[in-house]
Amino acid sequence: MARKTGKSEEYVLSEIELQRLWNECKALDSQIVVGLLVFCGLRVSEAIHLRLEWIRDEEIHIPSQQKCNCAACAKRGYWTPKTSHSVRLVPVPGFMKPLLWEYLKTHPEGLQLSRQAIWYRIQHLATRAKLPHIFPHALRATYATLLASKGLTGPEICAVLGWARITMGEHYVRIAEARGGAREKIKQIWGTKYA
Ligand SMILES: [Zn+2]
Repeated sequence: MARKTGKSEEYVLSEIELQRLWNECKALDSQIVVGLLVFCGLRVSEAIHLRLEWIRDEEIHIPSQQKCNCAACAKRGYWTPKTSHSVRLVPVPGFMKPLLWEYLKTHPEGLQLSRQAIWYRIQHLATRAKLPHIFPHALRATYATLLASKGLTGPEICAVLGWARITMGEHYVRIAEARGGAREKIKQIWGTKYA
């Protein structure tokens, strides 16, 4: 599992790359797809199943179960999140709120896209933004990295991302602290001025 974390971490987008990707999201549904993954940290399966009734008090409430007949759920007749820890409250960033409301007002059933369609869309946007191939875990890992760099604790990151193991969140915090610490120490070694 530690390997999986390390692997997705290699593909975390920098803030500049993230801005470039977001700039290519011109259509509302592209903003919703990318925004739910990278600015709300939803899993692809959660983003696909999000619907108007999940929104209460301007937050996303991920339910423990929902009736669904999409190709992935048809056999069971309902959707469930990955684990019991995935049932959670997810805050929506201020700039995303009007976009999400506008979309769900006309699409109360949500995106209704397949996992493949979501990834096809993201790769298309990434190509336009001149970014390398984006891996499925990269957008959630980018969100976790962003939260860690803004000072959220490991348990706080786990609560928002729906991770059971606190070490997952702590991993991102340690990386963020190491980056900040390394930068400061390197400045002290060589100074910040060019000769
Ligand atoms: Zn479904």
